[in-house]
Amino acid sequence: MAAASLFAICASALAMTAIVGLRYLAASGLFAWITARVRPGHYAGLDRQIRQEIGWSLLSAGIYGLPAGVVAWGWRERGWTRIYADVHAYPLWWLPASVLAYLLLHDTWFYWTHRWMHAPRVFRIAHAVHHASRPPTAWAAMSFHPIEALTGAVVIPALVFLVPIHVAALGVVLTIMTVMGITNHMGWELFPRALVHSRLGNWLITASHHQRHHESYRCNYGLYFRHWDHLCGTDRGLSSP
Ligand SMILES: [Zn+2]
Ligand SMILES: [Zn+2]
Repeated sequence: MAAASLFAICASALAMTAIVGLRYLAASGLFAWITARVRPGHYAGLDRQIRQEIGWSLLSAGIYGLPAGVVAWGWRERGWTRIYADVHAYPLWWLPASVLAYLLLHDTWFYWTHRWMHAPRVFRIAHAVHHASRPPTAWAAMSFHPIEALTGAVVIPALVFLVPIHVAALGVVLTIMTVMGITNHMGWELFPRALVHSRLGNWLITASHHQRHHESYRCNYGLYFRHWDHLCGTDRGLSSP
């Protein structure tokens, strides 16, 4: 490979790392600020834990940035991936359907890798870092050991080679991923009770569901949806954060 291409790939990976890191700091910072307004003192005494959450999260940003940067370079320079920019390249119904497909596929990958990481030996090595947040805060969204970060970092860069998605729909997926990753760890429920306790809420994961995972460990493994937890008998219902 030409040195110029290698340099461009490294620059792309660095740029992606900066974007993921800044996106984390801005989004987690925003929700931490909102938490301080609506739940004053909610993170009292957690300064040391929050510093560690930020440190692990920024390390994760580098691990997310590498595959994302390589794929972004390939998309721009080599026409890799099935990301498309012409909104009419596929039927319009595919725009929302592709978002749902990405969320369902990511959720499936997450459920099974997450269950794997709760096997005792794997847990100690790869997942204890994430559960060291007791209770988690808005800064814990990317607080992962590098092995866990790697399992998360490869998902979207792999899916863009397999499932066609409009570039704006991909933006929606990444926004949902960022916001839910943060709000599920924030320690209080953002969504209205009428939704969380509804029939639809029975299939969706918000803070009330993931908080229970952090309290009880061996249940509620899902990311966005509860169907895998329901199917596999690992859903223990909601906590009341
Ligand atoms: Zn968590
Ligand atoms: Zn876990």
